Amino acid sequence: MSPDDKPDNLINAEGLRVDGRRPDELRPVEMKVGVLKQADGSASIRQGNTYILAAVYGPRELHPRHLTLNDRAYLRVVYRMATFSVPDRKRPAPSRREREISMVIANALEPALFLEEFPRAVVDVFIQVIQADGGTRCASINAASLALADAGIPMRTLVPSVAVGKAQGTLLLDLGDAEDKYGEGDIPLATLPPQDDITLLQQDGHFTKEELLEAIEMGVTACKYMHELQKEALKQAYAKRRPADDAEVDDEDDDDYEDDLETDLGESDLEEE
Ligand code: UDP
Repeated sequence: MSPDDKPDNLINAEGLRVDGRRPDELRPVEMKVGVLKQADGSASIRQGNTYILAAVYGPRELHPRHLTLNDRAYLRVVYRMATFSVPDRKRPAPSRREREISMVIANALEPALFLEEFPRAVVDVFIQVIQADGGTRCASINAASLALADAGIPMRTLVPSVAVGKAQGTLLLDLGDAEDKYGEGDIPLATLPPQDDITLLQQDGHFTKEELLEAIEMGVTACKYMHELQKEALKQAYAKRRPADDAEVDDEDDDDYEDDLETDLGESDLEEE
């Protein structure tokens, strides 16, 4: 978005936002599970114009080995934006922002997972932002937790996430790009239903104590709704899946995979870095 696209007002005289939403209204959300054939688990999310894919592999052997955790699996999250996902071409090299968001997403997801069941292994979560229009870290958490469930990773719960922001002194749910760029602040959060423990809470901009508490309440309520959408997306994926789909994966495939792994990983790759 160029400065020329800056709207005069983020909230009009009728109290509606630039895209016509009420302050407490989410963008249209569409989540799909099992969208990638190669991954152990996958999901996509469209939230307004934000579009994200998440792929999960594992639990599997961890390389490089010096990252090994003896008491649990390592949750390795890689959040990346496609070069074409933003108006100004995104440089392909991982940015500081992408590294920070990868870590924040891992921290939000980790309490939901029984990683202690897989000591020394890794669970890889690859998140690709195909189109960014605000709220990508929250949408990534929504999609990644669905992809983890799709991969069969033991979980306490799915992790819903949403951001609450502020413009012209009014709290706004689920910021779009213009609201994120030209608004007064942004509070992304994620929860663990049904207790609604908060696993992500960041704040950008200035909020009074009252605004902060109200924003958290608004976000937690919206997360409950997001959680319902996540469960629905999972149910739909499994309703479509025929038992025969699982039967197609036979032991021979597993043997081939082991052979390939040995061929692909030379001795040097197996050594610690
Ligand atoms: N954005 C962008 N270029 C970038 C990074 C971000 O245009 O290199 C946009 C994108 O739409 C993103 C928004 O800025 O969603 C807000 O970014 P922020 O870092 O606040 O993270 P997000 O709100 O996506 O979690």
